[in-house]
Amino acid sequence: MGERTGQCRPNYFCTVTKGAVEACQWCRRPLPPRAATGRPRRFCQPACRQRAYEARRLASSLHLGVGEVVVAKAELDQLHDRLYVLEAALEDVAGDLAGSPPAVAYREAFLHLYEAAAPLRGVVVEGSPSALVVDV
Ligand SMILES: [Zn+2]
Repeated sequence: MGERTGQCRPNYFCTVTKGAVEACQWCRRPLPPRAATGRPRRFCQPACRQRAYEARRLASSLHLGVGEVVVAKAELDQLHDRLYVLEAALEDVAGDLAGSPPAVAYREAFLHLYEAAAPLRGVVVEGSPSALVVDV
């Protein structure tokens, strides 16, 4: 899992470091550096630990398998919508940068991709008991 810097602005590039950062087992945000002593941290904050506990209890009561979660349909739909926007932007940019585009086209492509990707910053899809509302 890569580090999420969350510090990008349209006129700057972001760097993402993969593999070196441990992630919270609930929200997937990077964990702070490990302390020299004690047990390794698994969660970034007590709220994440509590939600993970509640999710494990819910999964157990629903007889879900390891790695299966229940999420709110509206939350999943919103994520899919944002991913669709990003996918469409990628297709736009691939077309715009085909051939030998002028340098300004790369800047416009970056801004277009940034606009499409920005709503995904900080998105966390969480399982929770409130996700049990069936909406099909
Ligand atoms: Zn967390």
